[in-house]
Amino acid sequence: MTTNDEHDSGHPADLMNKLVSLCKRRGFVFQSSEIYGGVGSVYDYGPLGVELKNNIREAWWREMVHRRPDIEGLDAGILMNPRVWEASGHVEGFTDPLVECRNCHRRFRADELEGVQCPSCGMSGTFTEPRQFNLMFRTFMGPVQDEASTVYLRPETAQGIYVNFRSVQEASRQKVPFGIAQVGKAFRNEITPGNFIFRMREFEQMEMQYFVSPGSDAEWFDVWKERRMDWVRRLGVRRERLRFHEHAPDEMAHYAKAAVDIQYRFPFGWQEFEGIHNRTDFDLSRHQEYSGKKLEYFDPAKNERFVPFVIETSAGLDRTLLVVLADAYTEEEVEGEQRVLLRLHPAVAPIKAAVFPLVKKDGMPEVARRVADLLRETVTVFYDEVGSIGRRYRRQDEAGTPYCITIDGQTLEDDTVTVRDRDSLEQQRVSVERLTGHVQGLLRDSAT
Ligand code: ATP
Repeated sequence: MTTNDEHDSGHPADLMNKLVSLCKRRGFVFQSSEIYGGVGSVYDYGPLGVELKNNIREAWWREMVHRRPDIEGLDAGILMNPRVWEASGHVEGFTDPLVECRNCHRRFRADELEGVQCPSCGMSGTFTEPRQFNLMFRTFMGPVQDEASTVYLRPETAQGIYVNFRSVQEASRQKVPFGIAQVGKAFRNEITPGNFIFRMREFEQMEMQYFVSPGSDAEWFDVWKERRMDWVRRLGVRRERLRFHEHAPDEMAHYAKAAVDIQYRFPFGWQEFEGIHNRTDFDLSRHQEYSGKKLEYFDPAKNERFVPFVIETSAGLDRTLLVVLADAYTEEEVEGEQRVLLRLHPAVAPIKAAVFPLVKKDGMPEVARRVADLLRETVTVFYDEVGSIGRRYRRQDEAGTPYCITIDGQTLEDDTVTVRDRDSLEQQRVSVERLTGHVQGLLRDSAT
């Protein structure tokens, strides 16, 4: 499908189909349980995909936890006491309005439909009245399967942070303002999933909750809004395809005082991939009320006790990965030939360096394998001796590998190799002895 927006956004035509096919062919993303015909909107990450995903997660963790003395990490369970979801409002309110077409029995989100016509079968006036559909997946804990043993797969990671607020604060001796960060799976039984990994039923979130004193919340909201946008830009995502979208009061969740999305211009339009929310003291107050445990903070300097306000930064890892892929995908002509490349930021590229012998003889493969082993000590390396050198370069361009190292005739004479840059196609000669340092230097210079 080609939309006007696709052309306006500067993406290559038909980008989503091209991405889906590249992801499958090169081992980034597969449909889950594909040999059984798949399962609705769950995806598996293949060898290159898992590296890319790990690298984005690590870049986020480095930025949000390791570089910040005021933020602590956490890894809470997916299953929680079901009272958590009553307190948070999810049991009652985490719903979407669902309608069903009486003709074809397909189901849709009422708030996403544009008219009375069914997008699937084309009939008009066939929708049922909307009913509220809870998006949480349920299961049972223990051997008895009844209401009392119902537990939920968490639909967001945030609640794991709120219920641990006191424990983390006391253990780490952090003072407000401070934050708790967590990355983990979340599950939502979305009514209309789609657009590849944009809307999934099982996905990963990277969330940080920043606890501040009441009254300073508006200021901290602005600080985090700018910091998060800055991070995405440093990941190399094009500025002109990024924007803020401020929520109008009627768009806001029940807990929020202010909310802004960071949106990316996907081929299917501007869409959110991260939200920054001022959640006030809603969550901590509710957990205090439902658990009967105090979730206050005592400020020794002011001799004051209060329930902190929370500024949340909530990003989807899979959705950020889709942003990174969509933005990196490039088609260009080089010396009369088309090439497809992923201009991935070197920090997130799955393979940092590929090593090739120019030809499969004259002892070049032996030297190349030695060079590959040397580099593998510090970076991810792919060794390839199959096919023409041009084809091997193209294969790495398509995988987003920033540096290709070739062992050629001259290597055998003076122990130097060529290092080719994926984007500029420039080649530099570097001695084998200096190679590891050289590649590390290149990666360091381009660090996020
Ligand atoms: P949407 O309006 O798209 O359903 P949301 O406003 O419900 O999203 P939040 O609850 O704020 O989203 O979740 C924060 C982030 O988690 C989103 O910006 C997105 O990146 C990610 N996310 C939410 N739902 C999904 C999903 N079904 N699949 C993949 N990522 C998701």
